Amino acid sequence: ARDELVARIEGLVRLVPDYPSPGILFRDITPLLADGPAFAAVVEAIASSVDGPVDLVAGMEARGFLLAAPVALALGAGLVPVRKAGKLPGPTASESYALEYGEATVELHPFTVPEGARVLVIDDVLATGGTAAATVALFEHCKAHVVGLSFLVELDALRGRDRLAGHRVETLLHIA
Ligand code: AMP
Repeated sequence: ARDELVARIEGLVRLVPDYPSPGILFRDITPLLADGPAFAAVVEAIASSVDGPVDLVAGMEARGFLLAAPVALALGAGLVPVRKAGKLPGPTASESYALEYGEATVELHPFTVPEGARVLVIDDVLATGGTAAATVALFEHCKAHVVGLSFLVELDALRGRDRLAGHRVETLLHIA
């Protein structure tokens, strides 16, 4: 059943060469989101990918939000949007990380993250792992526990998983 779901996901993730910049093969999940039964199956698979209780589900801007919100509802957990710099009114906790060219920053509202909260972190694609590792650091700053990270697609060659060592990382579709 899982193999079937993975094949279905593969068919519903569109490949867009050279987007948003030359040399990038963008994985577009909009066809998957638009397929009701497939979307529901993905949400269910992610919600059951973590064992033990979850207090908060974190979604990374912007496509992570689309998966994290229904997973939070499925788990009866709260939702924490992890946003790009300057989008939250504050006070914020923020964490910067290096990109190939330049730097990016992720932020959250720390007053929504109780100490000891058990957090499941979700995004559409795990690439270099920079975004996910910075998100883990944000929750650690709040003294919360990241009990798992879940992705729809993982680009294995970029080894993002190595930057999440010590954490449970689940991915539905692995791309060599
Ligand atoms: P990274 O920090 O390198 O792991 O990049 C992860 C973030 O960038 C995620 O929020 C993804 O949505 C986005 N991303 C990176 N590479 C791709 C790709 N090839 N296709 C779609 N989204 C991507």
